[in-house]
Amino acid sequence: MGKPRGFLEIRRSKADQRPIGERLNDFREFELPVPDALLREQAARCMDCGIPFCHHGCPLGNLIPDWNDHVLSGRWEEASIALHATNNFPEVTGRVCPAPCEASCVLNLETIPDQGDGSGRVQPGAVTIKQIEHQIADRAFDDERIRPQRSPVRSGRKVAVVGSGPAGLAAAQQLGRKGHEVVVFEKDDRIGGLLRYGIPDFKLEKEVIDRRLDQLRAEGVSFRSRVHVGVDVTGDALKKQFDAIVLCGGAIVPRDLPVPGRELAGVHFAMEFLVQQNKRNAGDIVPEEGAILATGRKVVVLGGGDTGSDCVGTSLRQSAESVTSLELMPRPPDHRRDDNPWPQWPLIYRTSSSHEEGGQRDFGVMTKAVLGDDQGRVRALEVVRVELKGGKLVELPGSAHEIPCDLLLLAMGFVGSPRAGMLEQLGVEMDARGNVRTHEFATSVPGVFAAGDMSRGQSLVVWAIAEGRKAAERVDAWLSSTAARVA
Ligand SMILES: Cc1cc2nc3c(=O)[nH]c(=O)nc-3n(C[C@H](O)[C@H](O)[C@H](O)COP(=O)(O)OP(=O)(O)OC[C@H]3O[C@@H](n4cnc5c(N)ncnc54)[C@H](O)[C@@H]3O)c2cc1C
Ligand code: SF4
Repeated sequence: MGKPRGFLEIRRSKADQRPIGERLNDFREFELPVPDALLREQAARCMDCGIPFCHHGCPLGNLIPDWNDHVLSGRWEEASIALHATNNFPEVTGRVCPAPCEASCVLNLETIPDQGDGSGRVQPGAVTIKQIEHQIADRAFDDERIRPQRSPVRSGRKVAVVGSGPAGLAAAQQLGRKGHEVVVFEKDDRIGGLLRYGIPDFKLEKEVIDRRLDQLRAEGVSFRSRVHVGVDVTGDALKKQFDAIVLCGGAIVPRDLPVPGRELAGVHFAMEFLVQQNKRNAGDIVPEEGAILATGRKVVVLGGGDTGSDCVGTSLRQSAESVTSLELMPRPPDHRRDDNPWPQWPLIYRTSSSHEEGGQRDFGVMTKAVLGDDQGRVRALEVVRVELKGGKLVELPGSAHEIPCDLLLLAMGFVGSPRAGMLEQLGVEMDARGNVRTHEFATSVPGVFAAGDMSRGQSLVVWAIAEGRKAAERVDAWLSSTAARVA
């Protein structure tokens, strides 16, 4: 175990960050590595609580107390093995995961007597699980411990994975390691899904994806980018060429804003904006005509989730004149409510690193119309204040007002996958939310499986990896059965 009573002696301490004034000048990551000695001290806070709830908080079931103990003892090789036993891409989750494990850490359960200044009782705060994960993974790459794990046997079975986000990559790696021939199809020009073209570089530099892709390639996984299944190759052709298909195409249909003025110039879906910046960071030229830039603009971002927060950070780095985030729902409470107890994910007010960097936030604001100037470009939003009453949003009389805006970014979530094209050609059933219907990762068509956002709906990287892994197990079991033929 960690250090007995370590959690009573050592305070939670997070990684330092580059100063805001400096990091807003570039798109590089801004969290600085924690020195080894300090990281080991933080690992020593793991209290060997007997029933580690962090396992359950983590959708991957990461073996957290085990690798905390390895880090404390300086056993980096063992730490990396324990970490990779459940997680294909800990260097990614270590950077971008919201860390539900930390929310369910037993150190978050109760307050304890203050060991510092004796002024009362303190919340000791969870073990810094995510930071420790991040550094075990990065160190494993630095020490060249991330080597290909090629299967010694070949099954002679071929599997197509559609989509190269975290779900597709995890499924592909697991299936390749079972000895199957795996081909990943990706409609974009580069591999990585939202890791590549959604999440900004300041949260996840793309070299982090590339070095892991080298491992997958060396293990025998093939990648075919710029191939849109359903357009460049039909679902039928895929069925004929492969013994099984895993659909990991994400939930890419954005929620729209059905109000007057939506068609005005300067109103864009968040992903149009974010993808362009990720491409610039990758060295691509985004043609001036069609470029969406926040530079010198009064930016309003509708939607307060990860996507909205990434629009804030990107707009600030592009030197926007102002950035305002609007959220329809009321501001969440600062502390857990009684009906949201530990170890549940706390539904509380959160401030992302991008929100810390600047801009304004407002809650309980509903957009009624987008107002334009005489050039047909957005100049303001017409909004009202709303309150939750009896589970319904109610407009507050007399609260209508305008918010100046000349770039409006819609980051209000995603509503599933397009049925036309691949999904229609394959004949898979959809659910009421616009996602592919699955039962234990199998779709309604034998031999066709689905995982990640495409079946789960918009979610998190950690869930995509977890589902990719589980889907791979199901596919492998199905391929081993005598009935294995794609219908
Ligand atoms: C802006 C943004 C920021 C986010 N930030 C975070 C974060 O900080 N932390 C976190 O945990 N989660 C975050 N998320 C959510 C997370 O990125 C997703 O839940 C995760 O990437 C889903 O993985 P996936 O593999 O299911 O799908 P995706 O990552 O969406 O990948 C799907 C891939 O399939 C491809 N594809 C689709 N259809 C086809 C087809 N017919 N043929 C070929 N290719 C196809 C797409 O081009 C795409 O590359 C964020 C999401 C967004 C949009
Ligand atoms: S993947 Fe996320 S939830 Fe799991 S241990 Fe890492 S940070 Fe925690």
